[in-house]
Amino acid sequence: MHTSAIIQIENLDFSYKHTTVLTSINLEIEQGDFLGLIGPNGSGKSTLLKIISGILTPAKGEVLLKQKALSQFDKQELAKIISFLPQDYHPFHDIKVHQVVMLGRIPYFYDRFFENQQDISETQMAMKIAEIDHLSDRTIQELSGGEKQLVYIAKLIAQKTEIMILDEPTTFLDIKHVIQIMNIIKKLNSEESVTVIASMHDLNLAAMYCKKIVMLKKGSVLCTGIPKEVFTYERIKSAFDTEFYIDENDLTGEPIFLPLSPKSRL
Ligand code: ADP
Ligand code: MG
Repeated sequence: MHTSAIIQIENLDFSYKHTTVLTSINLEIEQGDFLGLIGPNGSGKSTLLKIISGILTPAKGEVLLKQKALSQFDKQELAKIISFLPQDYHPFHDIKVHQVVMLGRIPYFYDRFFENQQDISETQMAMKIAEIDHLSDRTIQELSGGEKQLVYIAKLIAQKTEIMILDEPTTFLDIKHVIQIMNIIKKLNSEESVTVIASMHDLNLAAMYCKKIVMLKKGSVLCTGIPKEVFTYERIKSAFDTEFYIDENDLTGEPIFLPLSPKSRL
């Protein structure tokens, strides 16, 4: 098949024991995409991201990475192409920030036991990009939620992969850290051509940063497209089954969403 897609998902179904979670998923992700995965809680976002990362294996269908079945890659080879930040990442207790970031280098010193000079400089560079140099010698449990998340992003940067998969990277963070993290990811996407796939709950943020949106509902793709096409009143209402206010941002032309307060005159 002739396609420029870096990842192709074909007729994918997935079940946990007896519960079917994803049905008939077909998706093509282009090299250099910034893809936002949107959908209500339980719609299958984390499951889909784990399948694309090679952590879960689909019951039916196929995921192709560069036209080759994902199952054909060995774990170390895959870890040099795809990095993944899970929704609930917790490294061990008492580990220092620079050691967490160094974990991103493991695929490269798999058969050496110890890091070399390049691993050390990539780790330092990643901490610089994520703006956490000053935290290098702190232990991870001493950090705020936002600082921790920056450390995990730095770990992914040190892994030097062409695809980054992030499961709700900014949920629960304050606005400063949200913007800081999204800007770092955006920069990697635009300057280093890193393909980004991120699940997100904040529709405004997704409209601001993503080039393409995939909307999931109950394990199926409801629609795919650029934010302007996908983020219409009808589609969001049907995906999330709720009322809200939608308008256009005067400064950027992007859609903006607001929850409706009890004061609403609807
Ligand atoms: P989302 O990330 O969109 O909230 P998930 O992929 O986490 O959705 O979950 C989709 C569905 O799969 C949910 O109904 C959830 O309860 C179920 N699920 C998730 N993980 C497991 C698991 N390990 N075992 C069984 N069911 C699971
Ligand atoms: Mg999830």
